Amino acid sequence: FLYNQVQDLKGAIRVYCRVRAFLSGQSNEQSTVDYIGENGNIMIMNPLKQGKDARRVFSFNKVFGTSATQEQIYADTQPMVRSVLDGYNVCIFAYGQTGSGKTYTMSGPDLMTEETWGVNYRALRDLFHISKERADAIKYEVGVQMIEIYNEQVRDLLVSDNFIYLFGSFISLTRYTLDIRNNSQLNGLNVPDASLVPVNCTQDVLDLMRIGQKNRAVGATALNERSSRSHSVLTVHVRGRDLESNSILKGCLHLVDLAGSERVDKSEAVGERLKEAQHINKSLSALGDVISALAQKSPHIPYRNSKLTQVLQDSLGGHAKTLMFVHINPELNALGETISTLKFAERVA
Ligand code: ADP
Ligand code: MG
Repeated sequence: FLYNQVQDLKGAIRVYCRVRAFLSGQSNEQSTVDYIGENGNIMIMNPLKQGKDARRVFSFNKVFGTSATQEQIYADTQPMVRSVLDGYNVCIFAYGQTGSGKTYTMSGPDLMTEETWGVNYRALRDLFHISKERADAIKYEVGVQMIEIYNEQVRDLLVSDNFIYLFGSFISLTRYTLDIRNNSQLNGLNVPDASLVPVNCTQDVLDLMRIGQKNRAVGATALNERSSRSHSVLTVHVRGRDLESNSILKGCLHLVDLAGSERVDKSEAVGERLKEAQHINKSLSALGDVISALAQKSPHIPYRNSKLTQVLQDSLGGHAKTLMFVHINPELNALGETISTLKFAERVA
């Protein structure tokens, strides 16, 4: 039922909520998740409060509890992913505070264990699988780009950073500010200067991801924990040629691991940290504004307010499909962020 519903919904926006498992050593901790209903409801409670104010229900297309496996998560993502081979543009986002499981959902805890692979690897493996199945009728080519958006600057994660030593400090030779172009002719190639690497099998993808993760980590030592303060966007471009008619179809899949959504205490953050926080707030609210404008079928969609929404412009709205995974951490000390995450998600649902 769900399967067909996703297939049939054009321009659909779906929101799934995932509750992160308690980490080992936290088994006695009290959860703020009171119950998860079959119908996509989740009830959050504050165990320190009583009465009506202690509980609140939020509704989504689906809610995954702490025991949901990576396989189950992908099973409900697969129809959207596969529609890329039919020429759709699709965006899949992971939203939530730092530590809530965004990277776990998108990439998984480690690349070595296939069983815990996240949506990114499963999606590519699936696309290769289906394109082989259709090889008699359609010839598919798949290429990937991987970029990072940090402080409203776009950087290619598939080229290694080159440093030179100048005037007593290391200066990066990498271009941190790639241009964004919204040219439908380039269909999905909105960052034409970012490397577009052809891939043929899952191993190619794993190799590339390693490069991407390593390049992301370079920033991390310089700016500490950078990965939680930047958005990473893995874009899969698919081009299919019908062997009989020679007609071409194009689709693309954006897999986005967003920066941590936690609010930063303005009285404490200063300098670089404050700037990062302001950029993150701005771009996440710009994303929320775009998705909720689309959900309300508003005539004006404010794509221009952030780099993130500009990069994804062709793949948000129109006939494109959007899936937002919102992540929550069930620990009591995360309750404030959990509520604001769920409010954000409710606004776009
Ligand atoms: P984020 O990317 O949102 O900052 P991570 O994905 O890095 O969060 O998750 C934080 C920690 O929790 C990691 O150690 C990760 O392996 C673990 N984790 C996240 N989600 C799950 C889950 N569903 N099951 C088990 N461990 C998880
Ligand atoms: Mg992460």
